[in-house]
Amino acid sequence: MLIKCIPGGSFLTNCYLIADEETKEGILIDPGSQVEEVLEEVERLGLNVKKIVNTHAHIDHAAGVEDAKKTLGAEFYLHPKEEPVLQALPESAMRFPEFKKVKVPKVDKYIEEGDEVEFGKYKAKVIHTPGHTYGGICLLIDDHVFTGDTLFAGSVGRVDLTGGTTMRELVRSIKTKLMTLPPSYTVYPGHGPYTTIGIEKQSNPFIAGGVILF
Ligand SMILES: [Zn+2]
Ligand SMILES: [Zn+2]
Repeated sequence: MLIKCIPGGSFLTNCYLIADEETKEGILIDPGSQVEEVLEEVERLGLNVKKIVNTHAHIDHAAGVEDAKKTLGAEFYLHPKEEPVLQALPESAMRFPEFKKVKVPKVDKYIEEGDEVEFGKYKAKVIHTPGHTYGGICLLIDDHVFTGDTLFAGSVGRVDLTGGTTMRELVRSIKTKLMTLPPSYTVYPGHGPYTTIGIEKQSNPFIAGGVILF
């Protein structure tokens, strides 16, 4: 399996391009303002990308979805509870000049807990992890888990942005849905470097209990 991380924008948001190297079928996770670079990479690698799956709809993760949909002729997948966050894109764009021309993409398929998005011989399994946003998801592909802004190396997402719920719910999502995965699984966050489930279980202060939430 090919996994390319393309960080971009002033938030250094990670867009992931993932593909089956044999069939050349791939998916895009979270194309933001670096979408041009991502599309060039798709072309350079000769990939057939017909599915865009977002972990959530914050502007730094979703600003490039409409352009990617058009250029690739791809369908857009999102959790239904994320729709209000998606609809708030123009409002968010006003606050951040780099996203001025953002368009709200239409969701083609809603995906929920347990659903699978296929590409080539692989399947991306949807894990609903509310907290950072209502409809935030993580995607599990074999032993790789793409966590968006739910879990970072050494930290977790904020809950005070558009669509955020509570820190209690975010930590519960992480503990019950992610920390139950094998420790060897690789974690690919929406910002920053890779990590593993095992490393986070041991040393992430939000999970290991070092941070008092209430
Ligand atoms: Zn976010
Ligand atoms: Zn983000």
